[in-house]
Amino acid sequence: MRKPIIVGNWKMNKTNTEAIAFVSAVEAALHDAADFGIGVPFIALKDAQANAKDLIIASQNVHFEDNGAFTGEVSVEMLKDVNVNWAIVGHSERREMFNETDAGVNKKIKQLAAHNMYAIACCGETLEQFEAGKTEEVVRGQVTAMLADLDANTVSELVIAYEPIWAIGTGKSATMEIAQDTCAIVRDQVRVLYGDDVANKVRVQYGGSVKPDNIAAYMSQEDIDGALIGGASLQIASFEEIINAVK
Ligand code: PGA
Repeated sequence: MRKPIIVGNWKMNKTNTEAIAFVSAVEAALHDAADFGIGVPFIALKDAQANAKDLIIASQNVHFEDNGAFTGEVSVEMLKDVNVNWAIVGHSERREMFNETDAGVNKKIKQLAAHNMYAIACCGETLEQFEAGKTEEVVRGQVTAMLADLDANTVSELVIAYEPIWAIGTGKSATMEIAQDTCAIVRDQVRVLYGDDVANKVRVQYGGSVKPDNIAAYMSQEDIDGALIGGASLQIASFEEIINAVK
């Protein structure tokens, strides 16, 4: 049985002070039916983690090198030092605006795994690719490149978020059918690369305009093990509604 995992992604929102208040408030609403987390801006990670008990505090990025001349970057050692063990990698906004590639994401997953940390690796097609009927081809290609040369154990523990770019922040969420079918494709590609056992363990999230009123329907789909949630994770009330909706 895969334990569901619901992760908010604050993007470039919330100060350190706001993060502390949010984490403290939301802790009380958590329950055992799923893992819950938040992707927090770098500067708020330390205090968010210090105020978290069961809530997973994830970085929204990490560099793949140990240290060095990489202005503006943050290393795994820096995250570990503030007890942060999770990172979101390859979000489409980082791919589109900061030139992240599948190959770079692959290095980041390896770097996290080498330090016993966990990755939420994102994939998903553009609107143009979706309209051209290329979703399957794009997603299988991204998954293959992101997972190149990983060991089976790392892939078993991975969370892969399928986020169609046309559904992110647009209010145009994918239909249950599209979300389920594409998450099943993600899992099948893991099966092709790493076999049944790993494919049955890897957790696949859907992301893109997930809200309190649609999360339960997504979660009822066979291959959807959770969600990556942007806008609806910013307010304590809506994130709590989401937490309660997956009890
Ligand atoms: P959204 O963002 O929920 O605001 O669409 C999802 C994401 O980018 O992870």
